[in-house]
Amino acid sequence: MRKRDINSFRKLLTRRLEQLLMEAERAKNTVKVAEETPSDPMDQASDNVERDFMLRLRDRESKLIAKIKEALERIEDGTFGICEECGQQISVKRLRARPMATLCIDCKHEQEALEKREELEAGPQPSRLWSHG
Ligand SMILES: [Zn+2]
Repeated sequence: MRKRDINSFRKLLTRRLEQLLMEAERAKNTVKVAEETPSDPMDQASDNVERDFMLRLRDRESKLIAKIKEALERIEDGTFGICEECGQQISVKRLRARPMATLCIDCKHEQEALEKREELEAGPQPSRLWSHG
């Protein structure tokens, strides 16, 4: 990958990371305010729902933050954009759409096909459900 591309990905990922950290900080404060504000029983339920939502959001965000950090580490050690599965270069076009991708498009498709197959094998068999014999 060209140095210019690497630099643009580093910038993109760093900016995304800063954004997420800021949002995470804001979410943390919202949860804290919700905890500190005394609410009457009528509001309790909706407070809990909101807090659950914020916690789930934080969980998802923290996973995303970890992924971005990993991608930045890969940039530093020079393995960014290399498929974990086959060692081929992931296309810049794919990385622009998914900068945190660790698999090339072929391996990704293969993985998805495998997951789909496993899902089908684990699921109910429609043909058997409908047969009477
Ligand atoms: Zn691959």
